Amino acid sequence: MIILLKNHADEQQVNNLQAWLKSMGFDIHMSVGASQTIMGLIGDTSRVDIEVIKSLEIVETVQRIQEPYKNANRKFHAEDSVIDVGGGKKIGGGHFEIMAGPCSVESEEQIVMIAKEVKKSGAGLLRGGAFKPRTSPYAFQGLHEEGINLLLEAKRQTGLPIVTEIMDAHHLKYFDDVDVIQVGARNMQNFELLKELGQLRKPILLKRGLANTIQEWLMSAEYIMAGGNEQVILCERGIRTYETATRNTLDLSAVPVIHKLTHLPVIVDPSHATGIASLVKPMAVAAAACGADGLMIEVHNDPPHARSDGAQSLTPEAFDDVVKAVNAVRPFACR
Ligand code: PEP
Ligand code: MN
Repeated sequence: MIILLKNHADEQQVNNLQAWLKSMGFDIHMSVGASQTIMGLIGDTSRVDIEVIKSLEIVETVQRIQEPYKNANRKFHAEDSVIDVGGGKKIGGGHFEIMAGPCSVESEEQIVMIAKEVKKSGAGLLRGGAFKPRTSPYAFQGLHEEGINLLLEAKRQTGLPIVTEIMDAHHLKYFDDVDVIQVGARNMQNFELLKELGQLRKPILLKRGLANTIQEWLMSAEYIMAGGNEQVILCERGIRTYETATRNTLDLSAVPVIHKLTHLPVIVDPSHATGIASLVKPMAVAAAACGADGLMIEVHNDPPHARSDGAQSLTPEAFDDVVKAVNAVRPFACR
């Protein structure tokens, strides 16, 4: 349920209302915007008499929220959330950033070289997998803690904030200096992991599950936010369909749908969505045009010899070309 307060509502009366609702067992989410103050109630509101609340002097309107996600709901928080991702960079509410780097961190030389290249082209964050979710147990599983240390070395040398995936809450001890923690598609509904991340106060990049609806995705964001961590960035990375020409099917309509349903920012990963390097540019441009708040793109210095996802990885030169095309279309983006 949301309670829209009148402009210039008496502060004492607002506090009284808040205290009364809390005493009834509700969590209150206050959203103070430039033009409106919204009080969001979380809990079973079926026993609240809407008419009593509507009759209060400070209340403009009261509305029940049908959607099961509350904290993530735009009705709770009309303005776009802007997430501070480190190094003075922000995502959401008009702030756009590109995260780029290899699928897997392979060596210091590799990650530092790629970090320097992508920074030169305009990437705002460095990505790289240290804990890799691989379909085959015999495939390269990542350098683990050492991979994170190499990312941190690349961060020291370039100043780029880093984003890397977590697969198990027991590994959180390695993530203290990671700027953005990624939850991969395969863990989107690992609810115990999401609850642990809800206890942190740092940005979480939540990728859409391989076969999950937008509502399920938002419920996963809700798990993180329910713990008090409101810094969630969504990432559309393609979903499983009957189509086999591409690795996944990029659901770009999810971008404007997400912007309608939630105040959280959404970025697009055209690399995992298509699985094919030549498709990354057209899909990156399309994502920027339809209003994405950023992109995640895989870049490798030697794609044919990459230890994972070489077929979809761009060379630094190709990445530079993609950034130019994305920047050219951004002024015309639908937002
Ligand atoms: C990745 O970004 O490295 C990754 C494994 O992506 P996804 O979870 O989208 O498959
Ligand atoms: Mn990858």
